[in-house]
Amino acid sequence: MNDSDDADPLACMDGLSVSGCERCPDLVDSRSRIVDGTGPADADLLFVGEAPGATEDERGEPFVGRSGDVLDDALRDVGLNRADVRITNCVRCRPPDNRDPRSAELENCRPYLNAEIQRVDPELLVTLGKVPAEHLLGRDVAVTGEAGEVYDASVGDGVQRLLVSVHPAATLYDPSQKETFAAVIEKAAEYAGEGGQSTLGSF
Ligand code: URA
Repeated sequence: MNDSDDADPLACMDGLSVSGCERCPDLVDSRSRIVDGTGPADADLLFVGEAPGATEDERGEPFVGRSGDVLDDALRDVGLNRADVRITNCVRCRPPDNRDPRSAELENCRPYLNAEIQRVDPELLVTLGKVPAEHLLGRDVAVTGEAGEVYDASVGDGVQRLLVSVHPAATLYDPSQKETFAAVIEKAAEYAGEGGQSTLGSF
């Protein structure tokens, strides 16, 4: 971080958009652009992924590659449209060679994620994969075993309900994850529709 970032962790954020952030030297080199969240600023559901991939970096939108197709299909199956939900990532810049974001990078981007979550104040956060689940819950998460579980996550000085999901890409290389992912998305849709009172049990 530079001095001005130390003074104001949201210095590069205007509303829900970040511009000109240079906190992570590797990511500044590897990104084509900063990929902000998309979707309504008052969405009931806020999906949180790990970091942009190549397609997201090219198009400037989260989950628009193969994982995004899986997510879009699952949303459609429960009567939701991509435009109905908000989608963002823990880290807004594509890591080199698609590596996982480093913990310092996750921490550098955290003020932006917290600000987005607090501004949107969704009924439910849905973490897509291990990295966002562990980042937001602050502990190890066995994503396959915990998919479908709802927890309270501390975000800034508030608390948000959080539903753990497998990453949509997991369904591409492990077809047994398809059912799990579909059930999580169904639970998310139900949860949002009921104003936070899911009628579905854990699975
Ligand atoms: N995977 C993620 O975690 N985020 C994206 O935006 C795309 C793929």
